[in-house]
Amino acid sequence: LTSGLENAWNKLKGEEVLTKENIVEPMKDIRRALLEADVSLPVVRRFVQSVSEEAVGVGLIRGVKPDQQLVKIVRDELVKLMGGEVSELVFGKSSPTVILLAGLQGVGKTTVCAKLANYLKKQQGKSCMLVAGDVYRPAAIEQLVILGEQVGVPVYAEGTDVKPSEIARKGLQEAKRQNVDVLIVDTAGRLQIDKGMMDELKDVKKVLNPTEVLLVVDAMTGQEAAALVTTFNVEIGITGAILTKLDGDSRGGAALSVKEVSGKPIKLVGRGERMDDLEPFYPDRMAGRILGMGDVLSFVEKAQEVMRQEDAEDLQKKIMSAKFDFNDFLKQTRAVARMGSMTRVLGMIPGMGKVTPAQIREAEKSLTIMEAMIEVMSPEEREKPELLAESAVRRKRIAQESGKTEQQVSQLVAQLFQMRVRMKNLMGAMEGGSIPALSN
Ligand code: GDP
Ligand code: MG
Repeated sequence: LTSGLENAWNKLKGEEVLTKENIVEPMKDIRRALLEADVSLPVVRRFVQSVSEEAVGVGLIRGVKPDQQLVKIVRDELVKLMGGEVSELVFGKSSPTVILLAGLQGVGKTTVCAKLANYLKKQQGKSCMLVAGDVYRPAAIEQLVILGEQVGVPVYAEGTDVKPSEIARKGLQEAKRQNVDVLIVDTAGRLQIDKGMMDELKDVKKVLNPTEVLLVVDAMTGQEAAALVTTFNVEIGITGAILTKLDGDSRGGAALSVKEVSGKPIKLVGRGERMDDLEPFYPDRMAGRILGMGDVLSFVEKAQEVMRQEDAEDLQKKIMSAKFDFNDFLKQTRAVARMGSMTRVLGMIPGMGKVTPAQIREAEKSLTIMEAMIEVMSPEEREKPELLAESAVRRKRIAQESGKTEQQVSQLVAQLFQMRVRMKNLMGAMEGGSIPALSN
């Protein structure tokens, strides 16, 4: 995927402006890249169409190359397609706010119930109650009860012989009696869409009159996501979606289809099996993920805001060619410092993935340590990290002069090479770099 997109941008090198003719080839690559990211075909068609129109219309912007311009247009359009901004959950005027969860079997509904309660409790101080509306297997009820206990939220459950709509009705009563802020209702899924499931959901929905009906979608769903979302939306009417299992390998193309076919936003994403692995959905980050190269692009973009243009271009080139050295490392960390918050920036560095506040503090601390070590390196050592990989004597000197341990110096050197490899892999370069073993 990444190399496909890189091709697309490369085809525009040397062109002056975007024209109907010169975007044909890059757009083919973009189309292929989106299909590989599991965006459904009709969505891809419409997307390519609108990007092409947009691209040909824009004139030359001073200092911006056509390939950069096309990257930006594609990204912006992707973000727009996914709703642009973060979509918050809606709360009803009177308590409790009812959130009904729907979706196929195994997508993560029951897990989301507990995660969402945990999230609302911790982030917004809401009191929550869960309703075990999946009555087909005793294990499903048991699962919700255990998860509820885990996050410290009460669960309303009945036996497997009670109708889901009846459980929903009683659960709602109980929530009112206990005066909880939010009632989250789990439902049964099937492996495929069928009439029984839809009818049951309609009944439950009628009883609850929910503020939010959220369709839980597995990020691995792929091409079928569009049809799935359409059916649920037409049959029961959804207010939004939750995308789960984003910690997996999927590029998350399903995200693009949701808003496009239903007009309803993705509100939250699940990134793991733990109760804390639920967060708001950020369209811009998702655009980056779908494009594959977005992490590097947004990093460069961010860096451009604080670095001089030439520096940023230089950095981009170095990232692409994996020539990234200690000077770049330092430039980057200083730019990061000037950017203020590490949070977003760290999230953009390839391979860093999700970061917690504790990790950020840790990272800030280690940046200071790194800087101290890089500062005592000779210009030659900074440009050729290999010198340090090859010589324990040099590493020892750096350790002494910077007041750090030799182990810390070795770590820094190893880290630089790891970063090169990651960046190179991310850019889909032809041959991967290698991490040299440190000599003694
Ligand atoms: P349901 O059938 O829709 O209720 O799905 P469950 O909530 O029972 O989840 C099915 C499986 O997916 C369980 O093993 C969950 O632990 C797992 N799961 C749910 N959400 C996520 C996620 O965001 N990431 C990962 N890796 N696994 C998840
Ligand atoms: Mg379930």
